[in-house]
Amino acid sequence: MKQMLHKALGHLAALALCLAAALPAAAGDDFDRWFAPQTLRVDLTFAGDSAHQSIYLDELSARSGWAGRRARLDSLYLAGNGRICLFDDATGEPLYRTSFSTLFQEWQATKEATQRARSFENVFLLPMPKQPVRMEVELNDLHRRPTARFACRIDPADILIRQADTLCPPHRYLQRGGSPEECIDIAIVAEGYTAAEADSFYAAAQRAADALFAHEPFGRLKKRFNVVAVALPSRESGVSLPASHQWRQTALGSHFDTFYSDRYLTTLRLKRLHDALGGIPYEHLIILANTEEYGGGGIYNSYTLASARNEWFLPVVVHEFGHSFGGLADEYAYDDGYAAYYTADVEPWERNITTLARFDLKWKNMVAEGVPVPTPADRFAEGDTQHVGVFEGAGYQSKGVYRACRDCRMRVNTVRDFCPVCQAALEGLIRFYTDPASGQ
Ligand SMILES: [Zn+2]
Repeated sequence: MKQMLHKALGHLAALALCLAAALPAAAGDDFDRWFAPQTLRVDLTFAGDSAHQSIYLDELSARSGWAGRRARLDSLYLAGNGRICLFDDATGEPLYRTSFSTLFQEWQATKEATQRARSFENVFLLPMPKQPVRMEVELNDLHRRPTARFACRIDPADILIRQADTLCPPHRYLQRGGSPEECIDIAIVAEGYTAAEADSFYAAAQRAADALFAHEPFGRLKKRFNVVAVALPSRESGVSLPASHQWRQTALGSHFDTFYSDRYLTTLRLKRLHDALGGIPYEHLIILANTEEYGGGGIYNSYTLASARNEWFLPVVVHEFGHSFGGLADEYAYDDGYAAYYTADVEPWERNITTLARFDLKWKNMVAEGVPVPTPADRFAEGDTQHVGVFEGAGYQSKGVYRACRDCRMRVNTVRDFCPVCQAALEGLIRFYTDPASGQ
């Protein structure tokens, strides 16, 4: 019974995704009717343990300018592990939707989450409504079932919406494709660089931007991006290494050993990160950590963090941006015995992996005739990133989860390219954010 219910919910979620994609573009294209050209920053606390999760409102603030999309406002390109929706308070009409994943949800799978409850900071940037709205927030588990819900009314005239300060930190533009209204705005942010090390940070940021645009589809769609490097100064050089008892005073308080996993370098101080960027238009964040230690992380619609002085810096920053910008899944598998992460009856929302539950929603039409599904591991050469099939082993599982190619930027650091399925997913997302509304 439980299995059947999961299956039905999985199909429903997949169907909802399908329908959202098929909506006429005009439904959410009237930005100026509903929104002012300002950003509503919503700080939320996600708290709980492995069994129970809750969402609380922390603070609302406003800043000038809106760097996000202006069309397809009520549509979602990816379901993510959580969503925020704004509805017109008077009519209930959906006005804006966005999706995300969080460190809080990753943490729920850890042993610590079975032993104690914790809270995590989260920051979301939404367009500022002109009229009162109802905001709904939902978190999902891996079966795509809701685990926590929160709703509240937001009145843009509320006197307690803080007017955020607009002091700009030191910054330099590395790429200008157009205005923040037209383009996807990426901020590359310094972590663990002292003021005296700003030039070293700017050089690393330039290398990261060049690496990104050396990959397709970013290269051919470069004009749709702005990239700004923000030299946030840290009091001390380097980042914290808890396993070696080394703690450093840095701008974003990042550290290795996140959730006691040695190579996992993250920051949990999202409010500090967004506070520091006042006055800079940005939508997507890449944090460069001033360390030689291998590590990093990328969380969908939250941030990428990468070690800037490690030999794998450039492949890692592109891979992690695949997570944080593109919502792509890891295409590698751990050894057998690793706990099942994706279940066979639920089609993952990430576009570059499949459980074959609803393969028709994935890259079925990109598999050439005569290529068997699933595809034998030796069908194409090792290192091949271009011939599409359905190879078992992805999403941390050696069984039951499939990827499109032998190799891909989302699988190993040693190959150059994103596979055609990842490229198509990234290009679709870039167009979703930046194509003008239909009829314009
Ligand atoms: Zn791929």
